[in-house]
Amino acid sequence: MPSLKNSIDYDNWAEQIPNTVWINSKGKIKHSLDKKLQLPASEWENPLMEYHSERLQNLYFTDRRDKKKRTAIALTSSRGCPLSCSFCAIVAADKEGPKWRAVEAETLVAWIGEALNSYDFQHIYIMDANFFVKKERVLAFSRGLHKLRGGTLTWSSSSTVGYLLKIRHELPTLVLQGLRLVEMGIEVGSQSQLDYMNKRVSVQNNIDAIKALQKNNIDIGLDFIMFYHDQKKQEIIDNLIFLVSAGVTEHESFDHYFNIMMLYPGTPVRHNLENSIGEKLSLEKLPFSRDFIDNYDVKKIYSTFIDDFAKPWLGKLEAAISSNLRVLSQSKSKSLKAQLSLMNIYLRHMPFIVLWELSHAKKHAPIEVIVPQFSNYTHLIESLLHRKDEATIARKIVEIGTTGVGGRSGELISKIS
Ligand code: SF4
Repeated sequence: MPSLKNSIDYDNWAEQIPNTVWINSKGKIKHSLDKKLQLPASEWENPLMEYHSERLQNLYFTDRRDKKKRTAIALTSSRGCPLSCSFCAIVAADKEGPKWRAVEAETLVAWIGEALNSYDFQHIYIMDANFFVKKERVLAFSRGLHKLRGGTLTWSSSSTVGYLLKIRHELPTLVLQGLRLVEMGIEVGSQSQLDYMNKRVSVQNNIDAIKALQKNNIDIGLDFIMFYHDQKKQEIIDNLIFLVSAGVTEHESFDHYFNIMMLYPGTPVRHNLENSIGEKLSLEKLPFSRDFIDNYDVKKIYSTFIDDFAKPWLGKLEAAISSNLRVLSQSKSKSLKAQLSLMNIYLRHMPFIVLWELSHAKKHAPIEVIVPQFSNYTHLIESLLHRKDEATIARKIVEIGTTGVGGRSGELISKIS
C-alpha cells in the first residue's frame, strides 16, 4: 500500500482497485469499478505469512483421538464450490456458474512448512467451503503434511457427502496422517428436502458418509438445516428420524436442532420466495427467516421450540451438562461417574424429545402440556445448576427412556453451508 497522506489520497487509491468496497471519511459506502477479475490460484500468496490477528493466534483444536489440546492455525486453500445448493451464498458469489479454484497440494504443504518457521502450531484448520473436491489433491496434501514436523501435525476441513464417499476407503490412511475432523454438509434428512436444496445426494448417501467417519473415529461437524420457510411438518419429523438413523442424537453440539435457513441475496430460494410474495427483500439486512415460514404448523412448532425452549433453557441445559462433566472428571467413584454419564445422555436428548413432541402435537398448547417430560428436564437442570451434593443429585437419575446415539446464529441459529 502506498504512503497516503489523507483520506482523499485513500479514496483516490481505493478507486483504482477494481471490485473494492470501502467506507470513506464521510461515512459513505463507496464502490470502485466492477471488473470480472479472478487471480489465478497459482499467484495466491501464502495467507499464513500475513498472520497478525491476535484472536487467530489463540486458536486451539481439541484432539479427542490423541486426547490433547493442540495449538492451531487456520487458512483457506480454495475459493468457491463446484456444487450449487439452492440456499448457499457461494452460488451468488460465483454468479456465472460454480468456479472452484484451489492451490496445488504441494503449494499448500509448502505454505504450512514456511509458516512453521515463524509460528508454533500443531493443528491446521482448512476453512475451505469444500476441501475434498479433488481426491488426488487431498491425498497428496495429507501425504505431504505428514512429512512435516515428524508427522505430528493434525488437520481438519469440510466436505460434501459425494466427495467424502469417493475417498472413504482412504480414510484410515488419512487418519494416520493426521485427519481429525470433517465438517459435513448433510443439511436435511429426507429426499424431498435434499432435492429442494439441490444437494444431489440421497438420504442413504448421507447416512453412509456419517457412518464412514464414525467407523474411522473422525469427529464430525454436522451442518444441518432443521427449519426453513417452505417446509412441511412431516419434513421436520423426517429430519429427526434421520438423526436417529445416522446415529447422531448424542452429537456434542446442539446447533443442528435449531438452524433455520438464512435467505441470502442472489440465491434460488430467495428468488423463489420473492416471486411468491411479489416483492424484493431488502439488501440492507438479512430478513428474519421465521417471518416467511409459510406452513402454520411449522411456524407454531418453530416459535414454541425457539421461544419457549431454546431461548430460556438451551444455555442452562449446556451449563448443566458441563457441570456434570466437571464433577465426572474430578470424581473417583465409579458409580457416580456412571450415573452422571447416563444423566448427560438423558440431557443431550432433550432438544430431540422436545422437538419430536412438538411435531406430533394434535393441538397447540403450552410446551409443558405438549411435552410431558419438559418439567422433569427443567427441574433436573435447575437442580444441577444449584447442586450441593453431587451424589444426591446423581440419584435423581431420570426414569424416562432416551432415544439412542447423537447447530447457533441468525436469531438463534443461521447457517451458510
Ligand atoms: S452449501 Fe456447501 S456444498 Fe453447497 S454450494 Fe455452498 S459450499 Fe458448496
